[in-house]
Amino acid sequence: MHMPYDDQLKYKQKTVNSLLSEFCKVNRIIGMDNPYHYRNKVQAAFGWDNRKKKCISGVYQSNSHRLVPVDNCLIEDEKADEIIVCIRGLADSFKLRPYDEDRRTGFIRHVLVKRGFTTNEIMVVIVSATPVFPSRNNFVKALLKEHPEITTIVHNINPFDTNLVLGKQNKVLYGKGYIEDELCGCTFRISPSSFYQINPVQTEVLYSTAIDYAELTGSESFFDSYCGTGTIGIIAAKKAGRVLGVELNRDAVRDAISNAKRNNTHNIYFQSGDAGEFLTALAKEGEHFDVVMMDPPRAGSSKEFLKSVCTMKPKRIVYVSCNPVTLARDLKYLTSHGYKAEAIQPVDMFPFTKHVETVVKLSGEK
Ligand code: SAH
Repeated sequence: MHMPYDDQLKYKQKTVNSLLSEFCKVNRIIGMDNPYHYRNKVQAAFGWDNRKKKCISGVYQSNSHRLVPVDNCLIEDEKADEIIVCIRGLADSFKLRPYDEDRRTGFIRHVLVKRGFTTNEIMVVIVSATPVFPSRNNFVKALLKEHPEITTIVHNINPFDTNLVLGKQNKVLYGKGYIEDELCGCTFRISPSSFYQINPVQTEVLYSTAIDYAELTGSESFFDSYCGTGTIGIIAAKKAGRVLGVELNRDAVRDAISNAKRNNTHNIYFQSGDAGEFLTALAKEGEHFDVVMMDPPRAGSSKEFLKSVCTMKPKRIVYVSCNPVTLARDLKYLTSHGYKAEAIQPVDMFPFTKHVETVVKLSGEK
């Protein structure tokens, strides 16, 4: 965080170069023109300052339960931060004490705000431990009076002793209960728990690069593995013959199906399951894809998945990675089993953090 932005980019470039230049020349990292306030999703934990007798909100210090108060943060959406500070003030004036984990008393545990970058829709999720929201209607009215730009408010109930922010139950208090946003000309629904990339400007850069690398001409069969809520596959479907997406998380698959409908995409199908097992079963049945897109979590892909890709022999593989270390490991496998890396493009999705995202184009050797 102390590093000037240009130095951060140099540092990330060096990291990617040292891990990946043995496979192919690494392009220059694509940074942001304005690397501040890019996070479109902000969550704050709520707690009690016993000396000041006031509600506080912020983040936990790492490996601890000490709540560090945050009013604003240089990488978070400014409107979202304002709304969280406002809710903190309202909680005090409505005498709503935040939840106390040790005593299991109090109400608000977390507040989560998500904003649609192109649509400007704003969702506020108030997470509590107990289902009864004291003076609920007046609280909602007061919040909307301060922030009429909020388009939906959801009450999420999380009674569990857990590190997860959200519980399973949602009650819509105002608006439609979700927001929408646009990426690369498609519209996506964002509900309280659905996964959505947090840096909208760079996500367009990342997705456009990945889809360019796929070199689609309109007729290809396209496999979108680790597809999340189907974003890459739905955008790619416009330029492909047919698309199949696979994803482990069932809720994400449900969102992917509704996203496909929302965009009138008829040549896409989704399947829930482990990408490796699923691809292995398809490969055994003799199924073929022209292009395989893969966007695995930080741990990278499984051996099983990589093995089955190499059995299936797609013309091209596009690998989107959020961890260059596991990417290097997986590229070693793919390049020693018939594939050649043709382009490597790092994209800075998370300025002021150590993370770096990378897209790789691989082609089958003739
Ligand atoms: N491509 C999407 C999501 C990428 S995040 C996007 O850009 O939005 C990686 C996704 O892989 C997550 O949604 C996670 O649930 C999923 N995942 C993790 N392990 C998996 C596995 N073994 N098989 C299939 N999907 C998996």
